[in-house]
Amino acid sequence: MTAAVRPKRLGMFGGSFDPPHVAHVALARAAVQQLGLDELRIFPTGQAWHKARDLSPAAHRLEMARMAFADVPHAVVDGRELQRTGPTYTVDTLRELQAQHPGAELLLVIGADQAEALQGWRESDEIKRLATISVAARARPVRAEGFFDASRLGAARLAPVELAPMPVSATEIRQRVASGQSISKLVPEAVAGYIAQHSLYRSA
Ligand code: ATP
Repeated sequence: MTAAVRPKRLGMFGGSFDPPHVAHVALARAAVQQLGLDELRIFPTGQAWHKARDLSPAAHRLEMARMAFADVPHAVVDGRELQRTGPTYTVDTLRELQAQHPGAELLLVIGADQAEALQGWRESDEIKRLATISVAARARPVRAEGFFDASRLGAARLAPVELAPMPVSATEIRQRVASGQSISKLVPEAVAGYIAQHSLYRSA
């Protein structure tokens, strides 16, 4: 008798990563470990349709992502969304992954804030059909009530990622750099060096 072959477990983790920070890295590590991923593809996004701010140039974000996730087992930074002209849609990337990895189980890894917004994403029902949704908690401002309840998503397949809430955001990091404050505990060391070397985020 031949042993059943387990489908490849392929995670997708997208973000503007402007810059990538310690919570992104912790989330990637937790996802690989807890979800038993064979591979976690990390996608720096092109100009995301739902983010109004102009992002830093793609080449900087790609390079910083490569540095930030270099030590996360099974993580591969994938620059394909940066090459798309026009807005980036998660559903397009999931379809491409499905075509390239037939039979693989796709898992979409997202923080709770993004999960809450997922219903408004393009073809959200198709996203939930294509992928298991893996949500990690994200620290909330004190005024917000409670934590996001992933069961509200109505996804057929849910696989939570346990992550101690880490109150760090790329917005805060950009603001700290612009006002001359240290970011040493908030981003991986190599990323801090890259930001300094290329004088990124000097103006808010
Ligand atoms: P910005 O402040 O510029 O909006 P961000 O810190 O939210 O950026 P993104 O690149 O937009 O970072 O996030 C990519 C993914 O990482 C999203 O799914 C987001 O929910 C998740 N994420 C970001 N920060 C955290 C955090 N502190 N804890 C858990 N998940 C996070």
